[in-house]
Amino acid sequence: MPILSADYLFDGETYLPSNTVLQVSDKGVIEAIFQTDNKTDVEVYEGLLMPGMINAHCHLELSHMQNQISEGKGLVAFLLGILAQRTLMRADDILTAIAKAEASMLANGIVAVGDISNTLDTLPQKARQQLHYQTFVECLGLKEEKAMDIFLQAKKMQSQFALYGNSSLALHAPYTLSHRLIKLVNEDGKGQVTTIHNQECEAENELFMHRTGDFLSLFEAVHFNINDFITAQKNSLQTYLPLMEQAQPLILVHNTVTTTEDIAFAQATGKQLYWCLCPNANLYIEGRLPNIPLMLQAGCTLVLGTDSLASNHSLSIWDEIKTIRTHYPEIALETMLQWACINGAQALGMDASLGRFAIGKQPGVVYIPDFHHANSTPCKLY
Ligand SMILES: [Zn+2]
Repeated sequence: MPILSADYLFDGETYLPSNTVLQVSDKGVIEAIFQTDNKTDVEVYEGLLMPGMINAHCHLELSHMQNQISEGKGLVAFLLGILAQRTLMRADDILTAIAKAEASMLANGIVAVGDISNTLDTLPQKARQQLHYQTFVECLGLKEEKAMDIFLQAKKMQSQFALYGNSSLALHAPYTLSHRLIKLVNEDGKGQVTTIHNQECEAENELFMHRTGDFLSLFEAVHFNINDFITAQKNSLQTYLPLMEQAQPLILVHNTVTTTEDIAFAQATGKQLYWCLCPNANLYIEGRLPNIPLMLQAGCTLVLGTDSLASNHSLSIWDEIKTIRTHYPEIALETMLQWACINGAQALGMDASLGRFAIGKQPGVVYIPDFHHANSTPCKLY
């Protein structure tokens, strides 16, 4: 049974003392963790050893859209691009792209994924059970009268995904929802983890505060009349969150323009909140990042996601960490590794087996040589 040690051994929460070793079964179950100075029979790794990483936000079904949408055009142009491109690919090419994208996540040391699904396209791949999935069946629709149909359709899809992993319903984003749909999903989801795209750009808040801005062209494209959109002269988060009183744990994704007041507002609800960062997608779509030091200061529990290949060049949590290190070098690597491991596992309700090296768990063992180097890549050992 292999015994491993490394220059840096991160257990999912913290670095362990340098003479700590990890005994792992051939299947990757952690059999023992102990300190020893006797390195006979110990495989010594130069670099970082850590548990498998958790991708808290992905859209695996959009993998065929890699390089289809231009960078830096803003969220509304991106969404219009998705609408236009979505149905252009042949079904078998979509499945091939999904399989390839999943394989890349495995290779990049990811062991579990919070995956948004609007279709059943990822079902055949999820049936192979190579990664742990929490599928979020996504509901969206602006028209109040369509809410029940959308909800029932999503429940049907959820029962399919439930065959191969955890699944729950999720709301897409504040600007694509009727109040009735929010209510239906909220009531259905009591006690289950759910997620929503939150405050990804300034235009989202502008829509809610002033009923103006970029989103009017999205409404026009989907033939929705702004007069039917309910707002309360509060920003997006402060409008929808009170309608989601049952929704927790709740993963808020992007938070690119979220302020200290918004964080305080959300925290005052007493909800179990996870704030998900997808920095490479933010740079791809909007060309900016959330104020991560501010979120840390405000006590946000952070997790990491890749979003989809439609807005990212890779599905790699390590690549997201590298981007944050470049833009916010003051944030300790150890802190970001916690987001990638234990926080992500807790957010998806998978911390009983994933996210931390502890005896009896099977969290995956990932090795990153040259981990301070910009070209470093993870390698999954178990
Ligand atoms: Zn997303």
